Order: sequence, then C-alpha cells, then structure tokens
Amino acid sequence: MSVLIDPYEEAKKQLRETVELLGLGEDVYEALAVPERLVQVRIPVRMDDGTVKTFIGWRSQHNSALGPYKGGIRYHPDTTANEVIALSMWMTWKCSLAGLPYGGGKGGVRVDPKKLSIKELERLSRGYFAAISEIVGEDLDIPAPDVYTNPQVMAWYLDEYSKIKRGFYFGVVTGKPVELGGLMTRVISTGLGTAITAKEAAKRVLGGVEGRTVAVQGFGNVGYYAALFLEEMGARVVAVSDSRGGIFNPDGLHIPDVMEFKNKTGTVVGYPKAQRHVSNEEILELKVDVLVPSAIENVITKSNAKNVKAKVISEGANGPTTVEAEKILTEMGVVIVPDILANAGGVIMSHIEWVNNRMGGWITEEEARRKLEERMMNSFNNVWKFWESKLDQKKHNLRAAAYAVAVDRVVKAMKLKGVL
Ligand code: GLU
Repeated sequence: MSVLIDPYEEAKKQLRETVELLGLGEDVYEALAVPERLVQVRIPVRMDDGTVKTFIGWRSQHNSALGPYKGGIRYHPDTTANEVIALSMWMTWKCSLAGLPYGGGKGGVRVDPKKLSIKELERLSRGYFAAISEIVGEDLDIPAPDVYTNPQVMAWYLDEYSKIKRGFYFGVVTGKPVELGGLMTRVISTGLGTAITAKEAAKRVLGGVEGRTVAVQGFGNVGYYAALFLEEMGARVVAVSDSRGGIFNPDGLHIPDVMEFKNKTGTVVGYPKAQRHVSNEEILELKVDVLVPSAIENVITKSNAKNVKAKVISEGANGPTTVEAEKILTEMGVVIVPDILANAGGVIMSHIEWVNNRMGGWITEEEARRKLEERMMNSFNNVWKFWESKLDQKKHNLRAAAYAVAVDRVVKAMKLKGVL
C-alpha cells in the first residue's frame, strides 16, 4: 500500500505548508526538513536452524530542541530509512503539540516479525538495541513500542542496555511491562486517546458520538482499544480489520468478542457474527460517520479520498492520509483529527511512565489515566480553538492548526538556543 508514496516526501510537504502558513523563512524549513542524525545498523541474527540472517535497522533523531529524542521502534517488512525519518519528524511535532519536554525520534527494523520464532525475535531485539546503545539513553533518546513491537520487546531492550551500561536505567525505554517499571495504562493509552479525539470531533461535527457508526482499520494495539473505547462511549463500531482483511456488521460488532476470536485464530477474518467480509481498501469507503485508520501510513490517497463517506476521521496510525488526499477531504468538509493529535496518547503515557521511573515510582494507574485524559483534552481544545479562530476552515483542516502550534513551539526553542 505504501510502496509508491514516500512518507518522508509527505512529511516535508506538510512542513513546507506550515512554514508558509506561519510566514517563516526558508532557513527554518531547511533546518527542520532533515534529521539531526540518522543511524543505520546491521543486525546479524543466529536463526534457530543455525544459519545467520542479516537484518537492517535505523534510528532517526529528528530534532532535540525541546528535549531528548522520543519515539517508538517498529518491526515491519516494508520499513525504509525514509519512513523512519518521516516518523521521527512526526514525533517532533507530536511531542511539541502535547507540551512534552521531548524532541522526536523513531527507529525501525526491516523484518517480518511474524516469520520469526520468539527466540529469534529476542536475538534480533537485543542485537538492534546493542547496535544503537551508544545513541540512546534516559536523557538522550528514549525508544518505545510502535508497529509490531510490544512490552516484551521493551523488556529485552532494557535488559540489553543494562548489561552494556552496567546499571539499571529504567527510563531508557517506555512502554515496558508493569513488572519492569511500566504502567498498565500504557497499553490502552494510544487507542484511548484516539477514541477521545474522535468523540470530541464527533461532538462538534455530528452532535455526538453516541449511536454513530464507526469503522476502524487496524486491530492492533491502537485500533483495538480505539474501537473498544468508542464502543464504550456509545458508538456503533460496524467494521474492523487487520492485515488479513476486515469484517462488517451494520448492527455493530461486539469488540471484546471479536478480540477473543482474533486471539484464537490470529485474525478477525472469519468472525462468525459478521455479516460479510470487507477488504482493507473497502473499509475506508464504508458508509459510516467516523473513520479511524489505525494501521499504517498512506492508506487514504488521492485515488480513494473522494470515496470516503465518513464526516470525521481520527488518525490512530501515523501518516494514514496523504497531503493530496487531505486537500480533497477538506474540500468535502471532512474533519480530520491528525495523527500528531489523535494518537498522542501513547507518548503522553510514555512521558508519565518515564517521570514515574525517575521519581522511583510515585503515580497510581488512576492518576496516570486522569493525567492522560486531561492532556488529550487540552491538546484537542487548543488545536480546535486555533483552527476556528485563526484559519479558513474551508481551506485548512485541523492538521494545519496542529502543525502551526507544534512547529511554532519547536522554532521558538531553536531560536532561544541560537540554532536559528
Ligand atoms: N510509537 C508511538 C507513537 O508513534 C509512541 C511513541 C512513544 O511512546 O515514545 O507515537
């Protein structure tokens, strides 16, 4: 899906538009268009059959004006250096928008983790983290989970790092298992945040989310919890999908039940209480009120944007809508809650976890969740206010407002430091 569109080119276009919107100069664009550092590593992994397979990974550190680099690490067969750079740039804006003391970073390994055994996955994870151990650290660059990585992978990273550095640095990664300094709420936080922003947008555009129909593309950590919380909020989730395809039931799916089925079979496809199967392309074009793309980037493009029927899109994934698609959707009056706002719940909870680690454990799960909800709401309201008061809503979507707020903060910090 993402083969033809380069996410880095997309990220640069978004930056270019924001720089123009804010009336900033070419020097600002140039300083922000390239990452501060991009590291490529080779990871030789001893496979279970005794052979050695070599994988390639990257860590992109886009910007540190506001603090240490922060962002996840993904394992995906299509990952490229340019994808990782784009994702690291989006992290810079995401952290800035959420008001966190972090810059932006992202890592990726080009691998299909579904084809590895658990031991091979562990060796790959330890190998990758050892290879980037010189450039990460509690105050330097703090990775976290992303596509196809999880708390177990973070535990291996933490352990590998502890061995190399001969000390226990809980704060070097976030999204850890609870036993190793993680917070239970971290797993639900991105999806919860996406559901909150979808609900807030639906309130303003459709008069409320209750009884509204929702389609969710992606049934991983983000999509599953977004669907679950939207269902809890009173919405009718009529379609969900995973990498193998999707399911549809106009009367609504029962999300925990669908997950139980997926846990048993490995996919939502074939769920017996669905009325019919839908493809990953079709799910984006269903007649629903709210669409939540929560899988990968570049799924809504100029070729299918005009077929989108939803009035609200909340981007659980990073970069699911291309720049050209967004122009079409904006003309159609579709309100898009952009990724840097809609999926910021994960990194917001990562920050709470990181602070908690460094304070020796002080927060309760209830407090953590309350803080997350509060910060999501504040971010959403700020962006909405900026959009309503400062921009022509027929020409610009919420993304323009979110980017304006986020880029402005980074540029101010760079100016104060004398970088610009
Ligand atoms: N990978 C997540 C994201 O794209 C979370 C990053 C983090 O917690 O550092 O926002």
